Amino acid sequence: MEAHQHSPDSSSEECTVLEAPPGKNACPQHSGKVADHYCSACECALCEDCVGDHVEHPKVPLSQALEQHRSSLQESLGTIQSRLPQISDALSFIKEILQQLTNQRASIEEDIQSSFEDLHKQLDVRKSVLLMELEVTYGLKQKVLQAQVDSLVRGEGDIMASSTQTEEALAGEACVASHQVERELQENLQELAGLGLPCQPEENDQLDLIMETDGLRKSIHNLGTIVTTSAVASQSEAMGAGLEQCIVGHPSSVTIVTRDKSGGACKSGNAILSAEVFTPDGSIVDGEIVDHKNGTYEFVYIVPKEGNFSLALRLYDQHIKGSPFKLTVSGAFEAEVEVSGECVASTVTVHFKQTSSL
Ligand SMILES: [Zn+2]
Ligand SMILES: [Zn+2]
Repeated sequence: MEAHQHSPDSSSEECTVLEAPPGKNACPQHSGKVADHYCSACECALCEDCVGDHVEHPKVPLSQALEQHRSSLQESLGTIQSRLPQISDALSFIKEILQQLTNQRASIEEDIQSSFEDLHKQLDVRKSVLLMELEVTYGLKQKVLQAQVDSLVRGEGDIMASSTQTEEALAGEACVASHQVERELQENLQELAGLGLPCQPEENDQLDLIMETDGLRKSIHNLGTIVTTSAVASQSEAMGAGLEQCIVGHPSSVTIVTRDKSGGACKSGNAILSAEVFTPDGSIVDGEIVDHKNGTYEFVYIVPKEGNFSLALRLYDQHIKGSPFKLTVSGAFEAEVEVSGECVASTVTVHFKQTSSL
């Protein structure tokens, strides 16, 4: 026990007035009296005047009580300080997750920006193509119809001019002098009568636009999804016969239920899960994780030989509750004897069906 450093306290003033200087061990109840005992029941220091009130109570010498308190305080200090490395580890781990989350956000933001820029570009290109197609189609049809208009206007003009000339000629007196002119007019009129004019439309006015945008709008409305879950490894658990008894060469199944920090079941899929079966040689047995998209997942695996193995189930790189699990893998023969001793294949099939239905 460490020696007390002398420091002035509230009792030191009274100490000068009263006979015995009580120092640091002054009785809290009786000024000037020195406490030399400690009541364990009342947890207080006692002077000789106090003792009468604590006759029935267990008492220890004050120095012993103080020493006990000190060592208990020291112990508590050790206990609490031993938590620090754990907190420090957790802190750096959670900071890492936070940093990763922040990085993910930045990268997704970039992806969204560039994806939408691409789509905008594609839309603009399509718009230009459509406008160009409209121009070309219109141009072709317009050219045909305009040519028809031009040729009809020309024909109309010619006919009107000849008609006027002929009417003027007809208005004059018929004589030899005019005969030659009239013969020319006659030829002219016959030529015009035989002239093929494009009186039937050689094009139509159809120029329509079909824009099927409903499906596209729907697609755009649902374009892109932010995928995540609130699942945490410390609350998520695994169940199923595949955790305990496996048969060599036959599929075993484990169901993983993902839960959030409060233990509530997650209802959506897409959590990042990994499963590894470690053989004693350290090799890894392959299996398949099926996402049921409802917060539960199934790990189906086949162990190729007998023995004791470990199954590690990790959610976001963290072991789930109880992971790694110890697996006992027995031979097909053992399992057969266990049930009926009949055909190996059928016995195993039954066993597997029970397993997978869990
Ligand atoms: Zn006292
Ligand atoms: Zn007492």
